[in-house]
Amino acid sequence: MYKIPLFDLNYDKREESAIIETLRSKWISTGPKTQEFESKFAKAINAKFALGLANCTTSLHLALLAVNIKEGDEVICPSLTFVATVNAIKYVDAIPVFADIVSYDDLTIDPLDIERKITGKTKAIIVMHYGGFACDMDKILSIAGKYDLKVIEDASHGPLAEYNGQKLGTFGHVSCFSFFSNKNIGTGEGGMLVTNDESIYQHVKLLRSHGMTTLSYERSKGHSVEYDVVELGYNYRMDDIRATLGIVQLEKLGKDLQKRVEIRNNYIELLRDVENIILPFQNFRSFSSNYIMPVILRQSDSNNRKRVREKLAEYGIQTSVHYPAVHRFSIYTENSVTLPVTEYVSDNLISLPIYSTLTSENIILIIKKLKSCL
Ligand SMILES: *Cc1c(COP(=O)(O)O)cnc(C)c1O
Repeated sequence: MYKIPLFDLNYDKREESAIIETLRSKWISTGPKTQEFESKFAKAINAKFALGLANCTTSLHLALLAVNIKEGDEVICPSLTFVATVNAIKYVDAIPVFADIVSYDDLTIDPLDIERKITGKTKAIIVMHYGGFACDMDKILSIAGKYDLKVIEDASHGPLAEYNGQKLGTFGHVSCFSFFSNKNIGTGEGGMLVTNDESIYQHVKLLRSHGMTTLSYERSKGHSVEYDVVELGYNYRMDDIRATLGIVQLEKLGKDLQKRVEIRNNYIELLRDVENIILPFQNFRSFSSNYIMPVILRQSDSNNRKRVREKLAEYGIQTSVHYPAVHRFSIYTENSVTLPVTEYVSDNLISLPIYSTLTSENIILIIKKLKSCL
C-alpha cells in the first residue's frame, strides 16, 4: 500500500444514500436515473444532447459509427493518450494516423502535424484534451473545416473544463467522456456521448441498445408495447446504479475541481525552482479539470525515469505515466511512425498524485522526495 496514492475517490455518505434509494426503487437498469444524469450532464456543459453509456470506449466506438467512419478511412489521432482512443478507430476497420503533440509544454495534439498528415483518405480527427487541458480547438476546427473532416473529442479528462470560456465536449461533432473510477467523475465503469446534432443523438440512441426502437423502461411504463430492430446495434447502455453515482459526483464536481486548481498551484510554487523538471501547461490560461499532474524530467531517459519512480514508490508515493505512447504498442506496429516529442514525453513523464483531498503537507513531502531523487 502507498502512503500517498495517485488518486483517491471523492466518495462519502451522499453516494451511499443515493445508491440505497435507487436500489429500493427497484429500477436498476437504464431508466429514470440515466435520463436524469444525461440531462444534468448536458446542461452542465451547455450541450444539447447526452447519452449515458457503459464506458468511454463504447462512446468512442459509437462516435465513429455516428460520423460514418468506415473501413479504410483514415482518422488522425494522438499517440499520447489512453489506448482506447485509438482502439476505437480499429473497431470500425479504419486506419489510425498518429500525430505528434505540440511541445514539452503543451501535450495536446499538434494542429500543424494534423495538417501534415491529411491525405485523400482522411475523414476525421480525434482530439484528446490531455489532463483536462484543452487542445487548440480554434486551429483544429479551422483545419477540419478546410478539409471537411469530422471532429471527435475524447474529453475523458475534461468534464467542466474549458477552452476560451466554452466547455470541452461542445466543439466537435461528437464528444466522449469517461466515468471510470479514477476519472474526475467516477462511477466504476461509465461513459457519456455528447452532441449538439439531433440526428447523431437519435442514431446513437439506437446503436447503444441493439438498434431497437424502444427501451425496456419505456415498455414497462406502457409507453410502447412493441419494438423493431432497424440497424445492427450493441448493448452499450449505462445502468441506473451507475447513473445515480454520476448524478452525485456531478453535483460535487465544481468544488472538487476548485480544490484541484489549488493543489496544482501548490505544486507549481514548489516545483518552479526545480531545475531538472519541465512543468507542462504552465502558461495555460483556460479552466482545466486537472485530471493529471504531469512533470517531465529534463535530459533524461526511460531508465532514469524508472529509477525516479521506483525511489518515489519506496517513499510510499504512487506515481503513474500518462501515457506509454500508443504508436509503440505491438498491435500498432503497422501504423507506427516517428513522433519525437511524444516519444520523449512518453519516456520521461511522471504523473504525480492529484485528488481533491491531497493535503499541502503531502505535496511538500512529494516534492521534497522528488528533489532528492533527481
Ligand atoms: C479513461 C480513458 C478512456 C477510456 O475510458 P473507459 O471509460 O475506461 O472506457 C479513453 N480515453 C481516455 C483519454 C481516457 O483517459
